[in-house]
Amino acid sequence: MSERPLVFRGGLVLTMDDSHTVLPGADVLVADGRIAAVGPGLSVPDDAEVIDASGGIVMPGMIDTHRHLWQTAMRGYGTDWTLTQYFVWYYLESGKHFRPEDIYAGNLLGAIEAIDAGVTTTVDWSHGLQTPQHADAAVDALEAVPGRFVLAYGNLQQGPWEWATSDGFRDFHRRRIDGGKLAGFQLAFDVTGDPAFPEKAAFEVARDLGVAVTTHAGVWGATNDEGIRLMYENGFMTPGTVYVHAATLSGDSYHRIAATGGSVSVSTESEQSAGQGYPPTWALRRHGVPVSLSMDTSVWWSGDLFSAMRTTLSADRSREHLEAHAKQATVTHHHLRAEQVVDWATRGGAKALGLDAEIGALTPGRKADVVLIKNDASPAMFPILHPYGHVVFQAQRGDVHTVVVGGAVVKRDGRLVGAGLRTARAKVEATVGHLREALGEDAWQRGQNPDLPQAELLDNPYQYTDYDAGAAEWKH
Ligand SMILES: [Zn+2]
Repeated sequence: MSERPLVFRGGLVLTMDDSHTVLPGADVLVADGRIAAVGPGLSVPDDAEVIDASGGIVMPGMIDTHRHLWQTAMRGYGTDWTLTQYFVWYYLESGKHFRPEDIYAGNLLGAIEAIDAGVTTTVDWSHGLQTPQHADAAVDALEAVPGRFVLAYGNLQQGPWEWATSDGFRDFHRRRIDGGKLAGFQLAFDVTGDPAFPEKAAFEVARDLGVAVTTHAGVWGATNDEGIRLMYENGFMTPGTVYVHAATLSGDSYHRIAATGGSVSVSTESEQSAGQGYPPTWALRRHGVPVSLSMDTSVWWSGDLFSAMRTTLSADRSREHLEAHAKQATVTHHHLRAEQVVDWATRGGAKALGLDAEIGALTPGRKADVVLIKNDASPAMFPILHPYGHVVFQAQRGDVHTVVVGGAVVKRDGRLVGAGLRTARAKVEATVGHLREALGEDAWQRGQNPDLPQAELLDNPYQYTDYDAGAAEWKH
């Protein structure tokens, strides 16, 4: 990288280093794509670009360890889905209609959205790769956006023992991954618990390639402790394995994950709505399981880690209170703190991906992935009294002022720098048009409007009043 040096001046710096050093009124100097220095009143090269960080928070770029970027082309379509509609729509009915250009469109938009929201590293959990051409399209899009991306290769139209052992996959890996521009490569598939363990062949491919496996584990009704047991007994629970959701597993499975160097990618907004199980951080932290955060898919939810941090902290505390109330007890002091979820959104992701020496913290020598949260026009941006709490409960994606990836400014003053949003818009419109036509209007409407179950209204033993009519009366 030969970008001009730059310095963030006078910000509240969350270094996320090992001791979580917080530096008020400090500078972060970036040179040659890396963090050169962090501290107050740094002297900097004459040609350094100066970014005024006063009134803002400077933190490491966030890391999303599980995101189906290709599904961004269908943003919001599945808002009212459960996992049932998701599986029917993508796995059984409509997933096969996605062409390589549709994968490109979703990946392009999702990748741009990530850097705009300060997510500088994203694992593209890409299970729509029906052919190597689809995979080429996925990588083309990721390479067109100046963020850091790990491709997690998957194909929901085939068993992993089929696609992972195919010549097409091997050829793709040789052409695009070895020596390519991506930040990493994983194999993405799920273990159903079939006692014949057909997934073994795919694990062997991962082992031969020396890459990690990422797997949806502990998903209610889909994957469970049997899958974990099979992986464990066959020697495939190895360091670097990422278990996504892990929301309905036994304590024994959590012990196995912790004992084998794995980690869990928690997608709280997803687990709360889709039904994989209760967001598991409340159990994971008691089992010593390392955590990273993810947003899963914008076919339902948002795609930014502010949402992930906020919902994760809230869900953990909800559970802690509920568990206590069930025992007639009161939680007087929360176990999970905002500081910890900011760590999960940065260092946690870096560790899960084996990239902790390179990203995840603002320390000299690490790659310069930096986010400035600053919005002088926002009444929610002052006072900043609790820095971690401000990131988790006060700030949001619209407050992301500047984003730097590997020393290059990709967002400045709240605006993306040359990120091709217009191209993404045209391509996503073409994809939506194609799918709408391929499905037909009836199926399209049915797909996004699941049947509403009959609501049960309980008999009320007290005097009945008409709420709406009553409100009209007492207002006067
Ligand atoms: Zn997922």
